[in-house]
Amino acid sequence: AAKQRGKAGFCFYEPRMIEQASERLALSTELREGLGRGEIRVCYQPKVDLRTRELVGLEALARWAHPTRGALPPSVFIPLAEDCGLIARLGETVVREVAGQIAQWRAQGLPLVPVAINLSMQEVQGAQFVPSLLRTLGEAGLDRDAIEFEITETAAMTDVHTTLGQLRTLDTLGFRIAIDDFGTGFSSLSHLRQLPARAIKIDQSFVHGARRSHHDREIAEAIIALARKLRLHTIAEGVETEEQARWLQRAGCDTGQGFLFGRPLDAERVAAMLRERCAAPTLDG
Ligand code: C2E
Ligand code: MG
Ligand code: MG
Ligand code: MG
Repeated sequence: AAKQRGKAGFCFYEPRMIEQASERLALSTELREGLGRGEIRVCYQPKVDLRTRELVGLEALARWAHPTRGALPPSVFIPLAEDCGLIARLGETVVREVAGQIAQWRAQGLPLVPVAINLSMQEVQGAQFVPSLLRTLGEAGLDRDAIEFEITETAAMTDVHTTLGQLRTLDTLGFRIAIDDFGTGFSSLSHLRQLPARAIKIDQSFVHGARRSHHDREIAEAIIALARKLRLHTIAEGVETEEQARWLQRAGCDTGQGFLFGRPLDAERVAAMLRERCAAPTLDG
């Protein structure tokens, strides 16, 4: 097909782009159907106390078990859901799945830890978000401390006023909020002052970069020091080596999460892990 060029020299009629657009359209239709068919699953990654290495929490991570394309990661379907108006439904699906799962673990007599759910800014802005959340938790018979939230600041934080209002409501209701991927993208110190956050998650790029770049190492250490001053809990993501875990602990970081401590697991594996923890001998025998 012929290429036409716009005034600024942009190529706006490119076959590949059309292909991508129709691809996206197809995928968004499949997502809408997939949501109805229960194709969105949740797996859970352990968070551990860096000092004792004990399990202190889980993070819920959504997966799309696509019937023909295989397992699709959230980096594909979350932005898609945001663009095609499905993020509220997707978010409700994840909350319902997690709440039901926690209720099931509890019914099995397993010792529970808080489960963190990721929220997109756009999702939080929806008027139905809080009422729907409370309804789902009520139906599952869960207390508010059973789940907590992680939010990543994005360009979607356009309506700062609404977003802050919603997050304050969550905080007032007793939900703990962590700022995800801190130190990258749109996270800023001025937001830190305004957001009702109780924890900061240090982005994994600093953890991974720490070995080669003392710049990354120092930024991570400065974030930890700042968080401690502000009495915020710190969680390091992407911890893959013992060396990283020890360095972070020495720097004063509270919690670690990453392949070193465990990959995202399906609900049955988590149940087994909780059961093991239940049976673990205590220090005094
Ligand atoms: P995130 O919340 O920052 O989650 C951490 C990501 O790092 C996860 O990727 C996790 O699988 C991965 N990860 C954990 N430990 C390690 C490690 O040691 N090394 C490396 N290289 N990676 C590690 P995942 O599951 O692909 O999720 C990507 C992002 O998608 C999440 O980033 C979160 O922002 C978003 N997301 C996931 N589930 C949901 C959801 O239910 N709702 C919304 N709105 N966003 C979600
Ligand atoms: Mg997260
Ligand atoms: Mg993150
Ligand atoms: Mg993230």
